[in-house]
Amino acid sequence: MKNVIHAKCVKCGKVYEAVPNLTNCECGGILDIVYDYDYIKKNLTKEKLAARPNTMWRYRELLPVEETTPDTPLRVGWSPLYEADRLGEKLGVKKLWIKDDGQNPTASLKDRASAMAVAKAKEAGAKIIACSSTGNAASSLAGNAAAAGLRTFIFVPERAPKGKVAQLMTFGANVISVQGNYEETFELSKKAIEKWGWYNRNAAINPYLSEGKKTVSLEIAEQLGWKMPDYLAISVGDGCTIAGVWKGLKDLHAIGFIDKLPRLISAQAEGCHPINRAIAENKPWEPMEENTLADSIAVGVPRNADKALMAIRESNGIVVNVTDEEIMAAQKLLGTTCGVFGEPAGVTGTAGLKKLCEQGVIGKNDTVVSVVTGNGLKDVANAIKFCGEPMKLPNDLDALVAEIDRRGLKTE
Ligand SMILES: *Cc1c(COP(=O)(O)O)cnc(C)c1O
Ligand SMILES: [Zn+2]
Repeated sequence: MKNVIHAKCVKCGKVYEAVPNLTNCECGGILDIVYDYDYIKKNLTKEKLAARPNTMWRYRELLPVEETTPDTPLRVGWSPLYEADRLGEKLGVKKLWIKDDGQNPTASLKDRASAMAVAKAKEAGAKIIACSSTGNAASSLAGNAAAAGLRTFIFVPERAPKGKVAQLMTFGANVISVQGNYEETFELSKKAIEKWGWYNRNAAINPYLSEGKKTVSLEIAEQLGWKMPDYLAISVGDGCTIAGVWKGLKDLHAIGFIDKLPRLISAQAEGCHPINRAIAENKPWEPMEENTLADSIAVGVPRNADKALMAIRESNGIVVNVTDEEIMAAQKLLGTTCGVFGEPAGVTGTAGLKKLCEQGVIGKNDTVVSVVTGNGLKDVANAIKFCGEPMKLPNDLDALVAEIDRRGLKTE
């Protein structure tokens, strides 16, 4: 890889050659991929980019893959960035965009990391990839691997929503539903991966994954014509996404594509916010219980806390915690004002933004991008519970008229 210098431990600074099956540093720290920005500057221009296919692989010079590594088969990335004027007005901000990453092939932002995992597994000559996941990393890995002809072993906690499990079974993964929480699921996957030597797609263990995730911020920048907003709101679980988002922004800054770095908004659930607590109390992070219906961010032991905390601090970021009720209210608000249906964890960034607007922290002079990280169809049970029931009527116009009157609905 001519664009990559090496991988460097964020804890002890030790450097490693960037081989395809790289995992953690021997000190236990997480590795970060270090790029040769001079090389990238010479080889990547905004004009060159404009002519490329609309997938995450358009940013190849900024990604840790060999020049000869093929694009993965599914169309990952280039999700729409909507101008959300009605919602922006409601929240009272100057300008709001919604990046709907639920429109990835397996319906979450995790496709960006999983496509990267598949590309690196191919480079490594692996036939089987494994991971543990709260659900979306699993389904995205299963889908992207199936498309590329690789097999998967997937570990999910028993509470994983049905939609995600249905995806896994449809993509032909070997699925192990672990009787325990995400932490216990992770531990079993770790032992199994050691035993059988599978390619490891576990979040934060494999340093290439957040490089895939960073393509979301590369896209936001390009879609905004390289003019960055004041804030970028994102939901946080393990911390890989927010770390990746920040890495992408710093990359673009380093090669001179953008001149301003947005402040990150880290949104977590009130019932599980170890990363935000560490920032708020300026202390090392400590485990928390996993008490939230936003399953994708119910992460009591964050795997990438170090990089996430660094990203939030470096960006002069803001942390905000939201209750499950606030999350579900944001789901409905996004649905009714934007036509975007996000899963609970998917809309947590927007819920956090709404709260910060209500508190007056963010307001009428600010521009914001809020990323919806996963699609609502993955978890219909919660949506139905919170968004209400339809009118249930027989085939009878009089009954319909009466019901519409009763509800006081406008018919014109
Ligand atoms: C995984 C996930 C997140 C959080 O990403 P982390 O890297 O775990 O912080 C947010 N939303 C959705 C829908 C996810 O699947
Ligand atoms: Zn180290």
